[in-house]
Amino acid sequence: MTGKRRALVTGGAGFLGSHLCERLLKEGLDVVCMDNLITGSLENIEHLFGRDGFIFVEHDVTNFIHVAGRLDFVLHFASPASPIDYLKLPIQTLKVGSLGTHKAIGLAKSKGARFLLASTSESYGDPLVHPQPETYWGNVNPVGPRGVYDEAKRFAEAITMAYNRHHGLSTRIVRIFNTYGPRMRAGDGRVVPAFICQALANEPLTVFGDGSQTRSFCYVDDLIEGIWRLLNSDYDEPVNIGNPSEMTVLQFAREIIRIIGASSEVVFHELPVNDPKVRQPDITLARRVLGWEPKIELEHGLKKTIEFFKKRQ
Ligand code: UDP
Repeated sequence: MTGKRRALVTGGAGFLGSHLCERLLKEGLDVVCMDNLITGSLENIEHLFGRDGFIFVEHDVTNFIHVAGRLDFVLHFASPASPIDYLKLPIQTLKVGSLGTHKAIGLAKSKGARFLLASTSESYGDPLVHPQPETYWGNVNPVGPRGVYDEAKRFAEAITMAYNRHHGLSTRIVRIFNTYGPRMRAGDGRVVPAFICQALANEPLTVFGDGSQTRSFCYVDDLIEGIWRLLNSDYDEPVNIGNPSEMTVLQFAREIIRIIGASSEVVFHELPVNDPKVRQPDITLARRVLGWEPKIELEHGLKKTIEFFKKRQ
């Protein structure tokens, strides 16, 4: 097909969705941004209103999705995405990962569009293999409190591969590891906004457990670059996108205090149930098939994120 390509981004008013809409517009695509605004926010996309080729549709994608006209890509990013959010919204989380993925992928099939699923490192659960390669099947507790997110995303991966194999649909699956940057929500409970907001207020940083659990943080621009490359690649199995530089949560707290120059101390709170003890992406595959690796240093990315939260205060 010739003419301007057009993409639907579900969850387009969320943290990642909004950055993705921006990138797609920059690449010359028209964008339909869809969100039910449960955890997404119009503030994230208000700068895109009025841009040529951008429209916003308020809709819950667990119900039938109608989009008139051509679609070349459907990128399914709708979901509560922080542990606090999916504990508050367990049924919606399960529904958007299952019913929502079914609706979004059905739409992609009817339009002959390529479907890209935003999956997660949570599909590895509390991993027994470290770092995590895509070939690892994971260690998920289906009936634990985090199971609503992990299992919904695992189902979403399964239905994506089924449409790929059974219907010959062109599909992509990105397994997204901890990502941070401007437009994270201050109250979403994730460690990056929590620690930054606490440190900016010189309040104690709430480290869960003894802080020895590890995470590996990727700046949002690096992640979006990886997703853009995956979307344009011919690789249809899951691909990890994340930054392999790993640190403990306690080290991370100290780093935030140092960069902000805060007088905060660290306090220890109870570790949430099934909180993964380690997490680090193996990005060998992304390097090989996408020629991608993260470029942005933690300190640089954190400074940009801190600026964002300072302005929001
Ligand atoms: N965490 C913490 N203090 C907070 C928020 C989170 O110590 O105020 C810990 C949390 O227990 C986990 C890590 O930071 O080990 C990352 O948590 P987040 O909610 O950002 O996402 P997760 O990686 O668990 O999905």
